[in-house]
Amino acid sequence: SPFAYAPAPESRSVVDIAPSYGLFIDGEFTEAADGKVFKSLSPSTEEVLSEVAQAGEADVDRAVKAARKAFEKWSALPGAERAKYLFRIARIIQERSRELAVLETLDNGKPIKETRDADLPLVAAHFFYYAGWADKLDHAGYGANPRPLGVAGQVIPWNFPLLMLAWKIAPALATGNTVVLKPAETTPLSALFFADICRQAGLPKGVVNILPGYGDAGAALTAHPDVNKVAFTGSTAVGKQIARTVAGTDKKLTLELGGKGANIVFDDAPIDQAVEGIVTGIFFNQGQVCCAGSRLLVQESIQDELLDSLKRRLSTLRLGDPLDKNTDIGAINSAEQLARITALAETGEAEGAERWSAPCELPASGYWFAPTLFTNVTQAHTVARDEIFGPVLSVLTFRTPEEAVAKANNTQYGLSAGIWTEKGSRILAVANRLRAGVVWANTFNKFDPTSPFGGYKESGFGREGGRHGLEAYLDV
Ligand code: NAD
Repeated sequence: SPFAYAPAPESRSVVDIAPSYGLFIDGEFTEAADGKVFKSLSPSTEEVLSEVAQAGEADVDRAVKAARKAFEKWSALPGAERAKYLFRIARIIQERSRELAVLETLDNGKPIKETRDADLPLVAAHFFYYAGWADKLDHAGYGANPRPLGVAGQVIPWNFPLLMLAWKIAPALATGNTVVLKPAETTPLSALFFADICRQAGLPKGVVNILPGYGDAGAALTAHPDVNKVAFTGSTAVGKQIARTVAGTDKKLTLELGGKGANIVFDDAPIDQAVEGIVTGIFFNQGQVCCAGSRLLVQESIQDELLDSLKRRLSTLRLGDPLDKNTDIGAINSAEQLARITALAETGEAEGAERWSAPCELPASGYWFAPTLFTNVTQAHTVARDEIFGPVLSVLTFRTPEEAVAKANNTQYGLSAGIWTEKGSRILAVANRLRAGVVWANTFNKFDPTSPFGGYKESGFGREGGRHGLEAYLDV
């Protein structure tokens, strides 16, 4: 169209990626004790972005010791002093947000439109929000003298690398804890940039330590006897393993795990708006979102109309170079994740669900998966039960609100749900019966640092965000 707006792609030269990075321990970048390194790839091109030091057990021990030592002074600072550091970090994140957005897009594969407009603003917002709490803890109903727990061991996934870091680090520091954080092995770079931001902000040494590495480093961190609090976001399988490790110790634990969110569309919903919400619900970040609306529950009488519109809309999504500002669908984060999505989609077909994929050309290199729908899905199908964590939507139908609620709740998970209807009374009645930590009405995937987030059932326990997010880091 002559009216099409085609801004120039974001330039990767705005960010200076070093050929190699160390672990960040006690305020310094350092090699791993055993000298091990691993490579971080760009999933959209398979190009090596950097070589990163790989933390092992000895490094975990060194980092925990640094965090323990730093805890004494950090926890004794007046809240207003800790707030100054957090405000400073928040402002530097804003100042460097273009750099960080490009870096996150390169390392993760997600569209620049998302890192620029969603990830980075939310990251800064979390630091600002928790900075604001640091000097208010004594008077906010936490009891006379709430105490930090000590050293927090935090393990995060690759789908929102910097945002998950913000969810974990900001409340921990505001409450006077110190941190050892392990980013995911496929996305270590933005956490290492954050380490540099901590230095730039003058944060005292050892308050934040960043240990890039694999699951073994995560396991060593969560098992370390001098860690007081474990916070994990990732798969339900690993979450259960960590729960077993922590059981029988005095560590506090919060888990943010998988999901299989139901997006429920009633026959009175505004169809165009619902279609946009369904697209955001499952195709934002290529569906690699724990609270994705991966099950569409549509009222039977509008199924045909809704699916026609949805397919038309999906045919307009632009898949390709994540640095292109027009791109809607970026790369899948890793070859392993692509293999997992591919295998689950094949299972869907083998079990008799009907597969439709948006017509789009997949780039020759990198990891890609076209937006895909499954119809004729029953509750027994694997694609209706298992978390796919990719751009795949399973469509089921219902006739009555009761049936919608029963189907939505028929899952091992309980992280998110959506309701689309013009009736306010129906929103309230249905939302109250859904076993999900967050229920959106006539919108989806909206986040706010003031609002607690977390799961029911096998989606985990504990809340992050809001006032409730502080409780995970305090003894009252
Ligand atoms: P994963 O559980 O394999 O990995 C997550 C993190 O845990 C990584 O840093 C990894 O190195 C580390 N890890 C692996 N084994 C470990 C062990 N034994 N002990 C300690 N740490 C270990 O998950 P993934 O495949 O990287 O991420 C996808 C999953 O994360 C999905 O299931 C998704 O639903 C979930 N997730 C949940 C949320 C949430 O807020 N609930 C957010 C994002 C992702």
